[in-house]
Amino acid sequence: MPLVQKRRVTRQISIGNVKIGSEAPICVQSMTNTQTQDVKATTRQILALEKVGCEIIRVAVPDMEAALAIEKIKQQITIPIIADIHFDYRLALASARAGADALRINPGNIGETKKIRAVVDCAKDHGIPIRIGVNAGSLEKQIEQRLGTTAEAMVESAIRNIKILEDLNFYDIKVSLKASDVSRTVKAYQLLSLKTNVPFHVGVTEAGGLYAGITKSAIGIGMLLAQGLGDTIRVSLTRDPVEEIRTGFEILRALGIRSRGPELISCPTCGRCKIDLFKIAEKVEKALLEHPSQIKVAIMGCIVNGPGEAKEADIGIAGGDGMGILFKKGKVIRKIHQDQLVDQLLGEIDNMTKTSEELNGTKE
Ligand code: SF4
Repeated sequence: MPLVQKRRVTRQISIGNVKIGSEAPICVQSMTNTQTQDVKATTRQILALEKVGCEIIRVAVPDMEAALAIEKIKQQITIPIIADIHFDYRLALASARAGADALRINPGNIGETKKIRAVVDCAKDHGIPIRIGVNAGSLEKQIEQRLGTTAEAMVESAIRNIKILEDLNFYDIKVSLKASDVSRTVKAYQLLSLKTNVPFHVGVTEAGGLYAGITKSAIGIGMLLAQGLGDTIRVSLTRDPVEEIRTGFEILRALGIRSRGPELISCPTCGRCKIDLFKIAEKVEKALLEHPSQIKVAIMGCIVNGPGEAKEADIGIAGGDGMGILFKKGKVIRKIHQDQLVDQLLGEIDNMTKTSEELNGTKE
């Protein structure tokens, strides 16, 4: 049985220039944690996220000032922006007019039909989709009273919200069903996949700090992706959103779906290691964070076992006593003084990248 099942067939939507659903690549998104009206801080954070591969960004729109800020933010960034709105339909209208590429809003929370119609008409006029964001913690009262905060309740809420939009002939929809635990989240998406072809944005919400968050997200998002469910993903961490993007791409890479940047492998070290491998691995990881190449890089603790254990790596270093070695595909290239290990490894990676770019240029 393949690790990742065939992707679910969905309708396709576009958020800005990013296609979502069916055969479009599963894309990685995040949400800013700055005050959106602080244009400088928000833009700075989005630009940092762009550098590590963020493909869509969502910003909170709690008031009119935040909605209007979208226009200025958009002028300085290149990825599409989703305006996250709760309850107040006027903020949705203002965000769309300010250039938001999508709205995240639950029509059931807006109230009167004429207000919902105004948002839908505005989204149609601007050609932007709406993401319905169902959250187990904020379900409609009557659904929660009947079904509790279960996966079934989340699905009913999603169906209800999708129907509100589709009854107004609006089909440009993406939906998320988030709970703070893996089992409800996975079950909800599984159930909903049987009832609609709307693309899914997947994630585990309020997943927690770094360890709990990464673990829950990797398992929850990973299980769903392995079942072919999920068109955009967001890892939710109580951390710098840059960590969310890095984790998102590592989940995709671990499943063999997509990769971005070099893959770093390193040993856990043992009594044979005589260098500060933790520090070296951290330095290399940081230096390669925005590197464009897709090579596999190994950071190993000892010369005895390192090159052999990491022979699948395109390039790597292994530490010795005062000296280390640089190896490619398990073959030793040269000995290096341990102070020079990181610099020489990074230089060699740059050379390899340039060579492969030149080769590709020649081919074209
Ligand atoms: S590569 Fe060497 S130092 Fe690292 S775990 Fe293996 S034996 Fe130990």
